[in-house]
Amino acid sequence: HATVKSPPEPSPLRKARFFQANMRILVTGGAGFIGSHLVDKLMENEKNEVIVVDNYFTGSKDNLKQWIGHPRFELIRHDVTETLLVEVDRIYHLACPASPIFYKYNPVKTIKTNVIGTLNMLGLAKRVGARILLTSTSEVYGDPLVHPQTEDYWGNVNPIGVRSCYDEGKRVAETLMFDYHRQHGLEIRIARIFNTYGPRMNIDDGRVVSNFIAQAIRDEPLTVQLPGTQTRSFCYVSDMVDGLIRLMEGDNTGPINIGNPGEFTMLELAETVKEMINPEVKIVTVENTPDDPRQRKPDITKAKETLGWEPKIKLREGIPLMEEDFRQRLGISTNKK
Ligand code: NAD
Ligand code: UDP
Ligand code: UDP
Repeated sequence: HATVKSPPEPSPLRKARFFQANMRILVTGGAGFIGSHLVDKLMENEKNEVIVVDNYFTGSKDNLKQWIGHPRFELIRHDVTETLLVEVDRIYHLACPASPIFYKYNPVKTIKTNVIGTLNMLGLAKRVGARILLTSTSEVYGDPLVHPQTEDYWGNVNPIGVRSCYDEGKRVAETLMFDYHRQHGLEIRIARIFNTYGPRMNIDDGRVVSNFIAQAIRDEPLTVQLPGTQTRSFCYVSDMVDGLIRLMEGDNTGPINIGNPGEFTMLELAETVKEMINPEVKIVTVENTPDDPRQRKPDITKAKETLGWEPKIKLREGIPLMEEDFRQRLGISTNKK
């Protein structure tokens, strides 16, 4: 890319920090589901200092309680649509509600978070010379006409639908990332995350794996939205976090798909949860919402080749780990009568 400017010279302070290989890392949205698991992993390295900013819209302090008061950890209540002044080496920019129920609740706020929030984090990265990673989404492929989805597919997205605040918002966020890279020489990384699940998901956040597991534990019917033949591919959260850190510390800007290629229909997922958690539970079909993508499965060739990454945890291994966490939080130990 002949048009890419070279990054600004690091300040003496950054050079000194680099020499000690210490890293100050900002995680926006770090009180959320993926963010809090990412923080756990980053904090394992004693050379890392972690700053979380979060407005607690869908996240909670409870997800970070193990780190509050730790000398290498700071938690700031802050909305990324407002200017932020901190000095960091890395920015993991996750802040944005991910569950359709929450991102549709205030769509204007969702698009502001994606556009103004990402612009602010890029402005911050530019001022301090930090490397920035955006958690984009498989939703940028919309209702995909290419299957499985490769990174060079441009997508099939409704620009004026009820999901657009999220998927078009992330598309603009990706555009901003590449414009700051080309125009200002910023070091960027873009992950396109596919459906992720695991402990600490909001119990009532409306996503399919959390819904089915909570329903099976509570002895309530599993609600398969019609037609039930639509597919998704589910990645366990520890695999996701591993992929994000490899992407950040590797040399490739992305976009790179990070997800588990194991593909299931929603009916198959319901049957699996029923068999594993509560064989007595009913499965019912309910109305779907508009613009629901019919199929989704990542092509992860690029992640394998450039990051040496592939997911390790199969759906049948991940479900019991999530069940244990949900049972604890719901206070229901077993379905056996
Ligand atoms: P989450 O809702 O649990 O976490 C998002 C966090 O961002 C929450 O803590 C929330 O309070 C915070 N937040 C939202 N708006 C904010 C704002 N304006 N300012 C500051 N903080 C704000 O969601 P998650 O599943 O952990 O997703 C994290 C990221 O990964 C998101 O960017 C999401 O788009 C992306 N992603 C997730 C999935 C998935 O399956 N979980 C799939 C694709 C992409
Ligand atoms: N910004 C920020 N923190 C910083 C630097 C910038 O939040 O440390 C915000 C700033 O408020 C601006 C945005 O990032 O709205 C984009 O900044 P940039 O310098 O790229 O653009 P400009 O300020 O020139 O519009
Ligand atoms: N879904 C379902 N039952 C539910 C919640 C969701 O069948 O209780 C379906 C939904 O129609 C979609 C799929 O599960 O086809 C994944 O939905 P989710 O909201 O988890 O994620 P996304 O649509 O963002 O992939």
